Amino acid sequence: MTNTIAVIGAGISGVSFAYEINKLIKTNNLPYKVKILEASSRSGGVINSQPFYNHTIENGPEAFLTQDKYILSLIDELGLSEDLISMNSHFRRTFIYSNNELNPLPDGFRLFLPTNVISFLASPILSFGGKLAVLKDLLYIFKKSNQDESLHDFVVNRFGMEIYKKIAQPMLSAIYGGDPKNLSVNSTIKLLNYYRERYGSVLYGLQMSSYKKKNEAGPRYSLFMTLKNGLEELIKAMLNSLPDDSLMLNAEVTSIKENNGNYLIDFKNKSSMLASSVVLATPAYISANVLAQLDDKVGKALSTIKYSSAIVVNLFYNIADLDDKLQGFGYVVPQSEGKFVQACSFSSVKFPDKLNNEYHLLRAFICGSQAKESLGLSHNEIIDKAVSEINDILKIKKKPINSNVIKYPNSMPQLEVGHGQKISEIEKMLAQHKKIKLIGSAYKGVGMPDCVSNASKIANDLAKELGATQTLVI
Ligand SMILES: Cc1cc2nc3c(=O)[nH]c(=O)nc-3n(C[C@H](O)[C@H](O)[C@H](O)COP(=O)(O)OP(=O)(O)OC[C@H]3O[C@@H](n4cnc5c(N)ncnc54)[C@H](O)[C@@H]3O)c2cc1C
Repeated sequence: MTNTIAVIGAGISGVSFAYEINKLIKTNNLPYKVKILEASSRSGGVINSQPFYNHTIENGPEAFLTQDKYILSLIDELGLSEDLISMNSHFRRTFIYSNNELNPLPDGFRLFLPTNVISFLASPILSFGGKLAVLKDLLYIFKKSNQDESLHDFVVNRFGMEIYKKIAQPMLSAIYGGDPKNLSVNSTIKLLNYYRERYGSVLYGLQMSSYKKKNEAGPRYSLFMTLKNGLEELIKAMLNSLPDDSLMLNAEVTSIKENNGNYLIDFKNKSSMLASSVVLATPAYISANVLAQLDDKVGKALSTIKYSSAIVVNLFYNIADLDDKLQGFGYVVPQSEGKFVQACSFSSVKFPDKLNNEYHLLRAFICGSQAKESLGLSHNEIIDKAVSEINDILKIKKKPINSNVIKYPNSMPQLEVGHGQKISEIEKMLAQHKKIKLIGSAYKGVGMPDCVSNASKIANDLAKELGATQTLVI
């Protein structure tokens, strides 16, 4: 009997699972070792930080939400708290592009919802009717619900069509890289669900939480944070805590089969290895193929989880060339405007410490059908299209001094309406293979904090099954 726990995929899900299970192995003196098998020549998956002059920039995710505190405690445990960077406390606003101009969201917006009634009512962002419609949500006070529906229906029914079209759709599409008409409210924005389940009305919940926060003691974190030396620092720190031979790169797994109480893992290069437990931390469509021989039903169910593509374009400008044009954290563009770039983050304004105020960095995000259609374009073609659009919108006369393009085909799982139910069914089917686990962004939430806390939970579950008596507090 082998004692290897194989983790397939070295993205944040696989690496944080390996980190946590290794801790549990040590604490409980379990006779197991962990091995991460990664297809590519690097770890990190979509998290991809790159040196730029004397700094580090992000090609993939740029920052993480701090609402889920588990990722913060992990960063602390790894000794990286000093490298945490908060969002700039100035220029905290987002613009919405419409009718050839950028309109700022009024003060106090949380995502697409107002928390400051006075600034909302005074702003020209919605018509009078549109503002009134937003208050419909108050009719839901104490009508608690956890019924799944699309993000589109949720927003339109509670807050009206105008706020959906002008504000919610571009924001939600940029975050989830898909169409809110298909995405599940239960599987996406945890905060909306929390308020809906607890108070009925989301607006009322937001007011209650602002009130509570004002009166709460304890450390304050900005809503989003990042790491000074790049988010990949988190991956590297976790890998550094593992025994030397725990990561195998260029190891593309093709299938898993049962083998006398163990699992035989086959690689693309025709080699194979035995493992006592296997944790798949790969995109769902890859896990579907890898598991197909072992359990066709699970494979088929996994293959129904859809993915969308994304393209990130980093544009570096001389500070002087942008003058004072960046008076916020970025802009989003409603689908109806038909633009190439759906969101542009003013990264150097959001996190000025990352580039030490030496350059301006704008990150263009192309997603959904636009990304799908543009994956075939060359990097130069993508840069030209993005620069011409962004320079036009921001009225910038000079070209960027440097740029890069990163294509992410089939990288964003689309957690569609009914996703929670689908995952419960997959979990039930998988229960007969006790030592096979699934983790990753396709199941319990797409954000980095979701991936990390889900991986830790599954590490706890597996450790208990392997005989651990001391587990982690999540
Ligand atoms: C462009 C983009 C921007 C994002 N921005 C943010 C953000 O700002 N904040 C945030 O919180 N979240 C963001 N996200 C979401 C978040 O980053 C991801 O959901 C998360 O990093 C996914 O991690 P993962 O480990 O589950 O999967 P992945 O990172 O996809 O890792 C899977 C790994 O499996 C490997 N693999 C694949 N096939 C095989 C095989 N056959 N054998 C072995 N290995 C294999 C892959 O090479 C990869 O390394 C973003 C996502 C994208 C795509």
